[in-house]
Amino acid sequence: MRNVFVCCLTVLLLGSVANAQLSTGWKSHDLSRAQPKVVTASMKPGGPPSDAIVLFDGTDLSQWVSSNGADAKWKIVDGAMESVPRSGYIVSKQKFGDCQLHVEFASPKTVKGTGQGRGNSGVFLMGEFEVQVLDSYENPTYSDGSAGSIYGQYPPLVNASRKPGEWQSYDIVFRRPRFDDQGNLTSAARLTVFHNGVLIQNGNDALGPTNWIRHKAYEKIAGKTEGPLSLQDHGNPVRYRNIWVRNLLEPEQPIKEPAEGVRYELKQVEMDRLVGRYGGHRIQQSKRALVFMFNGNTPLTLVATSPTTFEFKESAGTLQFETGADGMISEAVIRLDAAGVQKAKKTN
Ligand code: MG
Repeated sequence: MRNVFVCCLTVLLLGSVANAQLSTGWKSHDLSRAQPKVVTASMKPGGPPSDAIVLFDGTDLSQWVSSNGADAKWKIVDGAMESVPRSGYIVSKQKFGDCQLHVEFASPKTVKGTGQGRGNSGVFLMGEFEVQVLDSYENPTYSDGSAGSIYGQYPPLVNASRKPGEWQSYDIVFRRPRFDDQGNLTSAARLTVFHNGVLIQNGNDALGPTNWIRHKAYEKIAGKTEGPLSLQDHGNPVRYRNIWVRNLLEPEQPIKEPAEGVRYELKQVEMDRLVGRYGGHRIQQSKRALVFMFNGNTPLTLVATSPTTFEFKESAGTLQFETGADGMISEAVIRLDAAGVQKAKKTN
């Protein structure tokens, strides 16, 4: 019983710590937050949206080079590009960090080889993190090397492979690794992958750049913020088409809370004047701070900027108290970006 109690207490404590740390950096419903940029989605399923960079539209390899910088030696066949065995990897001329990638591929219709030798290729994010391309239709191999695996690290959640020769798609969301100024890893590369529309990698943190026998260390790419997309030549004539990528930008920086100089340190007597009911709302004291109970049930922490003016800590807006002819607090003026302006008389 005691253990259960300790366990529950631990969960509660951890929960409250975690909640305290969760923040977008923005107050909720801040009207100064930028509107989302308009992007026009394609009318065609799998087609590039208006802000996508098209890396291959079926016509040429102008967006690609060989990994040694020479012209890409893959060939164009029926609106697709095909890996030419022993011609080498091809890499995009443009580099990317955080991105969304759409790529379609087809393993050879004529089945040759088994396991890793059948329809093997790969899509490398930042040139380092391979999402495996393999003909995994009724073709067992080590699971962390099957189609849609983060090679050598995470098998796909399910095998959504189509038959050899049929077109398939990967939709990949990639969050690049982050490093501090000393080059220490602060967050790992994260990959989410849909295979033919089926979720197969659910935000997995890569252990390091992928490699055959064991993965590489993040130190190898310390400080790197972008890299090319690359497609693997593994000796099998795998085809690709309809490749596009969208750069994913860092969220904009939030507006700062009131600066120290603007903040006002409330005295106890000033708090006592404000505590009470204001229509359906309530002001109460919690330790050394005042809390505004919006509609009596939603606590909003108040940050004082003067004895009678406040900002809400969690939601965008201000609270101002008016004084009557008798010098007593008479009314609260509540300005919330999400709810407009309300005035509420102090009722006790
Ligand atoms: Mg491969």
